[in-house]
Amino acid sequence: MTDVQDEQLDVLLQRVDEEPVAFDGLHADTADEGYTLAIDGMEVDHGGLTESEFRDAITEDIAPYVTNWYYWQVTVGDSGRHRRAFLRHAEAAHEHPVPERYDALRDEMHTEWGEVLLTTTLGDAGERRYHVRHVDDAGTDPADLDTHEDPLDAREIATYDDRGRYRPLKTAPSLVAGWIFPDLDGRDAVETLDVLYPASIANWNREREGELDVTHWRETADRQTGIYGVIEEMPREGVEWIAEACCVDSQCLKRREWQYDEGDELEADGGTGTFPCREPCSLVVAAARKWTKLEEEKTQTYEFELTPSEKEQLEEIVESVADDRVGEIREADVYEGANRYRARFLRSKRFDSDGNLSGTPTHPDEHEASHADDHEDH
Ligand code: SF4
Repeated sequence: MTDVQDEQLDVLLQRVDEEPVAFDGLHADTADEGYTLAIDGMEVDHGGLTESEFRDAITEDIAPYVTNWYYWQVTVGDSGRHRRAFLRHAEAAHEHPVPERYDALRDEMHTEWGEVLLTTTLGDAGERRYHVRHVDDAGTDPADLDTHEDPLDAREIATYDDRGRYRPLKTAPSLVAGWIFPDLDGRDAVETLDVLYPASIANWNREREGELDVTHWRETADRQTGIYGVIEEMPREGVEWIAEACCVDSQCLKRREWQYDEGDELEADGGTGTFPCREPCSLVVAAARKWTKLEEEKTQTYEFELTPSEKEQLEEIVESVADDRVGEIREADVYEGANRYRARFLRSKRFDSDGNLSGTPTHPDEHEASHADDHEDH
């Protein structure tokens, strides 16, 4: 046993003097005739041990049970139940006995959390150490990544995407790569993840414990006030479109658990994310405000003159923008509908000087009235 482990053993004995210890396969207690010690799955079941015999009984094979107890019951402790549950999950603590887990931790254990990779390793005397980086950097030499130590640095990392655009939705799958937090304790590792994906760990754990408090669309819409009050007028069908537009895996890493109302599920795909979404977020509410107003407009019948290829090109442009593919289309890809030169060609050919497609005014009545005014002026 190292000095640190001796200290841990002192703390364990103090705890055993107060109450029996039963944790991750380690059982220790006091009895009239001395201490007892038993280990699940090992032929270790001692009774009547003096303190010094108890210490001697902690052989190399048994020491990991003590250091494991110390890490979870003293270092991590019970405060912060979501943090504790997540860190236990990160090393599959409920599935593997301590020796197996220590072997796996020496090799590193990985947990994907959205676009982030948490790596758990074994430090001195059973202490766990954690690295946090982008999943895309899993195979990159840490020396080639920007190193951070303070969990709050994650705020800056999460602010802009790789094209420098502000990320209004922190759970959008657009987290930049190229950074690493190489040596964190459990508290800082969880804080880093929480900055990158706010409340994701707490909500994940609440869901596991059957305590996720979901607020559905109707309740969210009904409690909006001021400029957002209008969203309660969004028809149910519109809420389907919102969920389909914003909440699918390609747009958000959370798994949508909110529905239209309790017992009234939306058909839109809620996604497969690891952590749940418990209520419509501010981005969705802000978008819904705009879309509610747009949905108040009546449809009109327009007549456009387009070739079949031009119609298909317009459809391709909408698809490419919706799937955020426009940036991938190279200037030379003129067979792509959303290619810049193709779009410019279409505009030159089909748009008039006021930007109307096929010269068709958006509001024909207003257009005619303004033309009549022009004639009178002349
Ligand atoms: S409401 Fe939709 S877009 Fe917003 S966080 Fe939840 S799942 Fe993601």
